[in-house]
Amino acid sequence: MKPVLALVGRPNVGKSTIFNRLTKSRDAIVADYAGLTRDRHYGNGRLGSQEFIVIDTGGFEPKAIDGIYKEMAKQTRQAVAEADVVVFVVDARAGVNAQDHEIARYLRKLGKPTVLTANKAEGMTEGVQLSEFFELGLGEVLAVSASHGQGMRTLAELALQPL
Ligand code: GDP
Ligand code: MG
Repeated sequence: MKPVLALVGRPNVGKSTIFNRLTKSRDAIVADYAGLTRDRHYGNGRLGSQEFIVIDTGGFEPKAIDGIYKEMAKQTRQAVAEADVVVFVVDARAGVNAQDHEIARYLRKLGKPTVLTANKAEGMTEGVQLSEFFELGLGEVLAVSASHGQGMRTLAELALQPL
């Protein structure tokens, strides 16, 4: 069985961009505004000889505006349930917000291996600007930049390490 990685996090943090990097595909739609990718999405990744499956989340067809958050939460729960390891993506530039805290609380309760990943970290000084993510209570934060292709291999290594 190939290990399964689920990418979770609030809209617009770069989950689909990471998905595309890890799977080397352009399948996931990368949106310039929050929430455009509409389908939960599976792809194949490879690290050396180790193959793995990646699940992107954040996709759904919103039927009503008040249904969006419920549907997002449902997708996240489903993806996380299927996953061996969770890649929780946050936005290094935007910092921590209430939605991040909500997802973090859920992931801490669940207790699955989780890699906290701060995307959009190109050109940032890690120690100084990323320390606030420790308050999510999920340990170390890995700084990456999906659009610049930085940290993608390290992310795959860290995610597959505990398996
Ligand atoms: P998702 O909603 O979490 O799937 O986020 P997307 O992958 O659709 O990306 C949302 C926006 O962030 C897009 O405009 C991306 O081009 C941008 N983005 C993704 N990764 C990076 C990154 O590493 N650095 C910067 N500066 N922008 C990024
Ligand atoms: Mg997306």
